Amino acid sequence: MVFIGEKDYERLVKYCLLCLPKEACGLLGGIQDRQGKWVKRVYFLTNMDNSAEHFSMDPKEQFAAIKDMRANGWKLLGNFHSHPASPPVLSEEDIRLAYDVSISYLVLSLADPGNPVLNAFQVDRERNVLEEAWKKYVLY
Ligand SMILES: [Zn+2]
Repeated sequence: MVFIGEKDYERLVKYCLLCLPKEACGLLGGIQDRQGKWVKRVYFLTNMDNSAEHFSMDPKEQFAAIKDMRANGWKLLGNFHSHPASPPVLSEEDIRLAYDVSISYLVLSLADPGNPVLNAFQVDRERNVLEEAWKKYVLY
């Protein structure tokens, strides 16, 4: 289970809409307990591919995000990217690039911009894609 703060979810959707028609991407930092992964901060990164169908995160921004997570005692919980015109599922390329079995891969589809759909996945060593439940929570 992935828990995302309500405001962070809103920010994530806004950022992805802002990046249209290009794919947006970023990282999720936070803590993990028995209940699941609690996202404490969403890091909005530059899509170096500047593309509507691919993304690669700016390595410098990635490094800065990881550094910030460490400074806060958080860990990397996952990443997100948007699909400007395709469904909220991992593409073959997404699966190929999902090499970390411990993190979550979130995809926000903006195929219908008025109705964004976010899904979370994990990818195991055999490249099986498992859908992961996620929930919004209120950050105090
Ligand atoms: Zn994708």
